[in-house]
Amino acid sequence: MNMPKEINRYCPKCKKHTLHKVSIYKAGKRRGSAIGERRHAEDKKGYGGQKFPKLAKPAKTTKKLTPIMTCPECKKKWNVSGIRLRKLELVA
Ligand SMILES: [Zn+2]
Repeated sequence: MNMPKEINRYCPKCKKHTLHKVSIYKAGKRRGSAIGERRHAEDKKGYGGQKFPKLAKPAKTTKKLTPIMTCPECKKKWNVSGIRLRKLELVA
C-alpha cells in the first residue's frame, strides 16, 4: 500500500490541524544484557532446551505495521494503530 509522506491531521496537543510527517515504526535493537534476554538464555541452557514452542505454521501471513505521525509544531509523535499489510510505502 502507498501512503503519503505528509498528512493533514488533527493534533490533540496543538488542538488544530497540522501537516504531520509520516514514518514507519521499527523495533529497536535487542540488548543481550536485558533481564528478559538473560532469563531466556538461562532457561534455554542444558537439557530440555526450548522454553516456548516455536510456531511451525504461523496463522498470519502479514505483519502489523505502525505509522508514526509527527506534528511539526509541537514535535509530538502519535502512533496510529497497526494495519495488517505486506508492504507499506511512503510516497511523496
Ligand atoms: Zn502539535
